[in-house]
Amino acid sequence: MYKSGQRQHAYDNKDISLVENNGLLRYPSALNFYDRPPQFDVTVEEFETTAMDRLRVLAEIESSLARNRTWEELKTATYNQYMKYVPLHTNTYDDTEEERRKDHLGHYVLRLAFCRSEDLRRRFVKAELTLFRVRYEETEAMDREHFLSSRDFNWIPVTKEEKVQYNHGLYSMYHAFRHEQDRADAFEKEKFYKVKWTRVPDLVEKRKVFLKGGWAYVPGREQSSIVFKEFEVELERALETTARLIPRLDEDSRLIPVLDNLSQGFVAGVASEWTNATEPGSSGEIRAEMVDDLAKKHFPMCMRSLHENLRRDNHLKHFGRLQYGLFLKVLGLSVEEAIAFWRKSFSRVTDDKFNKEYRYNIRHSYGLEGKRANYPAKSCLQILTPGPSDVGCPYRHFSSENLQTALLSMYSQQGLKSADLPEIMATVDAGHYHVACTRVFEMTHAPHGVAKGEGIGGGESVTHPNQYAARSMELAKVKNEDDKMVE
Ligand code: SF4
Repeated sequence: MYKSGQRQHAYDNKDISLVENNGLLRYPSALNFYDRPPQFDVTVEEFETTAMDRLRVLAEIESSLARNRTWEELKTATYNQYMKYVPLHTNTYDDTEEERRKDHLGHYVLRLAFCRSEDLRRRFVKAELTLFRVRYEETEAMDREHFLSSRDFNWIPVTKEEKVQYNHGLYSMYHAFRHEQDRADAFEKEKFYKVKWTRVPDLVEKRKVFLKGGWAYVPGREQSSIVFKEFEVELERALETTARLIPRLDEDSRLIPVLDNLSQGFVAGVASEWTNATEPGSSGEIRAEMVDDLAKKHFPMCMRSLHENLRRDNHLKHFGRLQYGLFLKVLGLSVEEAIAFWRKSFSRVTDDKFNKEYRYNIRHSYGLEGKRANYPAKSCLQILTPGPSDVGCPYRHFSSENLQTALLSMYSQQGLKSADLPEIMATVDAGHYHVACTRVFEMTHAPHGVAKGEGIGGGESVTHPNQYAARSMELAKVKNEDDKMVE
């Protein structure tokens, strides 16, 4: 450990988890304070995909915080997500350089995307700090020690003499021990560090430090609080600096759309994309006449709302039709059944008009006309951040009053009660729309054994309307089979 003023490396008060080797940056530790920007070439594609992957991890963290998960649950969810998208292994792993480079780049791209408003900065710092904390706890003790000793945290080890001098005050922090001997042993073994008390406000508030002459005496077991606070303060400062410099980037027409897209994804809070959005569902073939019943029992609010508009007006405008049509395609409606479904739904349109104006578009969305592309159904991210003519997500785009009325009218038959509304609306008001949708899924599927926090399965939040419907249909199928076994 390095005392204040001592330096292991030439970088002035800067991160030495990055070192230079023949001009190349190297990453000796999995933990990074991101003090130095990446200094390597990247393609625009890598710039975007690397940031998208990190965004998935941060959005999962936001979602966990919004869902009041315990620290252990949050840690597991975050660990699983980052090992999937931005894995970081300890030094015994072969490809650590590549992983750490990706981690470094992703962090910096998101800084650019999220420095532009105070709200985005606050959310970004909170999510990044949580990610750092999870990684800090998951990192092997040796790696963590190496990281701590490689960086100057400006803490001063308390000498033996000082420990004796303030024996009474320091010892008083060990009141949690039941047996006097255990308490004395723990105190004896403990190392203390002192820092200015303003650097550890959380420990001061929880009375976990001894205060003397403006210094906080921090026990070794609470050392991580200093590290986390430093990470937070440094990142806040860096984001403000980046915000002042960002107008210069506005001239770069390649990067600005990418950054806008990333910040929109974060605002929508969508963690990851469901990947089956081009394939028809596994629920078996859906026939046109089944759609009314499926909509009532299994559709998320966005699709349920489109379905009800269709039934009310016997019509849907182009973008609504496209969105709903692709959803039904992925759900398992074949092109013949889709033509039958839309033909019957547009009851005020003549056969001639239908064949001329609508049939082609339906076949087109199935990849049978025009470019013959396999168009995917829209994800929550796309629906939550719609273009000017798209249809949005009710949790985000309905007024509070309309949303509550619609929720009760659509889902009370599945067990949603007025008493559930305050919790859903609080989540909506906090801007966590897909978390509100996930809670509605949990509430309406409680009779199928879905518990609070379980989400769409394994704690995952809803990220795609088809994922919602497919899981709902799967749960109903399992319940039917179970019921049959009991009979
Ligand atoms: Fe639809 Fe997603 Fe909104 Fe739920 S969160 S209503 S699935 S867009």
